Amino acid sequence: MRRSTAVVLGGSVAGLCAAGVLARHFEEVIVLERDQLPPGAEHRRGVPQSKHPHFVLNSGRRAIGEIFPGFEEALLAAGGMLLMPSMDAAYCEKAGWAARKSSSMTMIYSSRVLIERVLRDKVREVDNIVIREGVTVTGLVTDGGGTPTGRVTGVEYRDGEESGTLAAGFVVDALGRGSSVADWLAAAGWEAPSERTLDAKVTYTSRWYDLPSAEDRPASWWWQHLVITPTQDTGPHPDEHDYLSNFFPIEGNRVIVCMGSWGLEMPRKPQEFEAAADRVRTPVFGEATRACTPLSEVHLTRSTGNKWRRYDELAQPPLGLVAIGDSICAFNPFYAQGMSSAARSALVLAAMLERHDSLDAAFHRDFLAGQKESLDVPWMLAMARDQAYDFATGTEVVAPWRRKLAAKASWPVFNAITAAAAEDPYVDELFTAVFNLDRSLKEMMTDPRFLYGLARHRVRSMLGRTKVPSGFDIDQLPPATDYTDPDQPREPATTAAPAEA
Ligand SMILES: Cc1cc2nc3c(=O)[nH]c(=O)nc-3n(C[C@H](O)[C@H](O)[C@H](O)COP(=O)(O)OP(=O)(O)OC[C@H]3O[C@@H](n4cnc5c(N)ncnc54)[C@H](O)[C@@H]3O)c2cc1C
Repeated sequence: MRRSTAVVLGGSVAGLCAAGVLARHFEEVIVLERDQLPPGAEHRRGVPQSKHPHFVLNSGRRAIGEIFPGFEEALLAAGGMLLMPSMDAAYCEKAGWAARKSSSMTMIYSSRVLIERVLRDKVREVDNIVIREGVTVTGLVTDGGGTPTGRVTGVEYRDGEESGTLAAGFVVDALGRGSSVADWLAAAGWEAPSERTLDAKVTYTSRWYDLPSAEDRPASWWWQHLVITPTQDTGPHPDEHDYLSNFFPIEGNRVIVCMGSWGLEMPRKPQEFEAAADRVRTPVFGEATRACTPLSEVHLTRSTGNKWRRYDELAQPPLGLVAIGDSICAFNPFYAQGMSSAARSALVLAAMLERHDSLDAAFHRDFLAGQKESLDVPWMLAMARDQAYDFATGTEVVAPWRRKLAAKASWPVFNAITAAAAEDPYVDELFTAVFNLDRSLKEMMTDPRFLYGLARHRVRSMLGRTKVPSGFDIDQLPPATDYTDPDQPREPATTAAPAEA
């Protein structure tokens, strides 16, 4: 049975995914978005983070594809590039350049603005979704706030000079990190959800560049993506050695050069930016940056703390409203989890709308439990690293001994896993599944075959019997040799030709 009207607050990734799901269950879905949405892949005020690189993890890619069949093909057709990072990216790890070798992970590289443009195109193909642009949501219409039957029944908005209300059978809050919905609910009588927070003071600084054309690139550029992890060296070194740096290819023969750090001041001006790129651990990063032509200013953001509003813990959660995307749970972007978590939450919503005839307390209880289970997976991953920093603030700061343990163990464990993954397909596949949110960190760290794989690799490496070398000199070019085991061949990813967005 189709329900009447659903209203989605916010027309970015989470809002569009929610609209796609709701369109199968409601006669009409209205998306209220404050910005005028550009027809093409362009930046806009409401999504300032689009200036920085955005990965869609595999689970997010699949989730979006379930909601909007053909999403992946459309993204590739618009210029996204399907690459296999272990073959197409050069990784500067603790010990040096990693060996190039095929693995189980593929990724579509594109800009965030292209992802959104393709999503908007998909939404516009759905007849019963209407996007109302230039409309600011200003409040909620509610009934019986905080009581067992308390329900959200509509929204208040401003459209230019006009203010109005819109009745809704169901409301989805997808207003992003800065959503005021929890405050509006509290003003209407509901208990405010408690917030779990951890701000590890991550700062991103990014600049867009044109790449040299394929013919003009140095012959040594077999790679399309450069990743430089922090040094892990505890001796004196330039700040830039602690950066996590990316030379991130996007559509239209362009690249986003991005440097990020936990807790450091980052460059804001073009000259400082390029000087910092030159001081990154390997000279290849600065040289590659200088070989490109700048297209933008330097963009810097500090809006990166982890924050989870725990609606699932409320004794009387509001009926008629759910929150998805950054409005409920925003992450440190280093882990690339935000868009995928939003799309996964939209699939939880789809499952619950299938399962329940009525949008009653049981529906909301089941949705919140399912969403919590889904969000636990990325949240645990983010905590595992961010809890290691003394300067992190928030409710999830741990005791000093746990902080020390996390600081000491997290990179070595990561290094051990990536080294073992290069030789052991089981370790590779489970790690890829965890990175892509298909399995949890806990499942991985308690999996006997996985632990055996790590131990076996350790012993082999102590005996000098590993097959895939590692630790190539970072003052030299990343080695192009393909170390894929011929006994375990994998299909290489296909690379779409660059196209204009
Ligand atoms: C630097 C950085 C890098 C990132 N990298 C990645 C990455 O690699 N991979 C990844 O998955 N995620 C990444 N993220 C996270 C990702 O950007 C977010 O998780 C994602 O955008 C969340 O989408 P959303 O729809 O919930 O919110 P948003 O994208 O923030 O959208 C909120 C929408 O609500 C609208 N809006 C706001 N207020 C109102 C109002 N009152 N009325 C009407 N409309 C309103 C806004 O205009 C906007 O369209 C990154 C984030 C940052 C900051």
